[in-house]
Amino acid sequence: MSESDPAIRVRKPDWLRVRAPTSTGFAETRKLMRRLNLNTVCEEAACPNIGECWTQKHATVMILGDTCTRACAFCNVKTGMPKAVDLLEPVHVAEAAGELGLEHIVITSVDRDDLPDGGASQFVKVIRELRARAPKTTIEILTPDFRNKAEDAVRAIVEARPDVYNHNLETVPRLYPTIRPGARYYHSLRLLETVKKLDPTVFTKSGVMVGLGEQRLELHQVMDDMRSADIDFLTIGQYLQPTPRHAKVEEFVTPDTFRAYASIAKAKGFLLVASSPLTRSSYHAGADFERLRAARMAKVK
Ligand code: SF4
Repeated sequence: MSESDPAIRVRKPDWLRVRAPTSTGFAETRKLMRRLNLNTVCEEAACPNIGECWTQKHATVMILGDTCTRACAFCNVKTGMPKAVDLLEPVHVAEAAGELGLEHIVITSVDRDDLPDGGASQFVKVIRELRARAPKTTIEILTPDFRNKAEDAVRAIVEARPDVYNHNLETVPRLYPTIRPGARYYHSLRLLETVKKLDPTVFTKSGVMVGLGEQRLELHQVMDDMRSADIDFLTIGQYLQPTPRHAKVEEFVTPDTFRAYASIAKAKGFLLVASSPLTRSSYHAGADFERLRAARMAKVK
């Protein structure tokens, strides 16, 4: 029996246990996504919060297909050669926002290194359709790093004016070669800095997973780097191993340590910090967006 055999995988602590999704709201959200031919990161990434989020009709749509051109060691999304871009996707996303009655929507995508613009124009089309068909819905986008084409891609997306621009750093720089081998830490950091320089009114957001073997001081350094890039909102959550083929969980970080990280991050000047075992980029994103706006108003005053 190998160490990665599911039979001997480490038992999750109680604070990570969630109920199986069975509600009517969950079933309705799933049906709508199937009907509109939309993928969600909630399903593809095997998110533990899917029962809670979908019951409330909060889903994070994953555009540009279900196949990623990268193969990160933490991510459950399948890797390979993606299919052609779905031209109806922007309309379908806007329809989903309307039918779900969303006040706030989070849109993410797979990495599309095969496309000349990395998929940026599809983000722009989705934002435009949402503004046209669901004008009251606020828009948060969670993009890939657009490596080797970031300048034009980021400029185009920022000009479309999302309310929140999120790009996750995911982990500390030392672990990039094993956890996020196709990406570069400082490239990702610069991307977020560029967003803020292009439009200081857009909220910027980034997240990290803990439990991958990072040291506390390394995480503190990531927080400092993020503040240097003027990032407004930090999310910190526990990494969970989606399958035995993925990177192992090195540690289940305790709720007390998450609270300690939150205190340190707040002291470093983030407008908002979400730090708990089940925190994910898009977890409670709508409520957090309201808190972000309130925090900015309070700061301005
Ligand atoms: S936390 Fe985000 S990815 Fe997970 S189920 Fe909720 S909306 Fe989906």
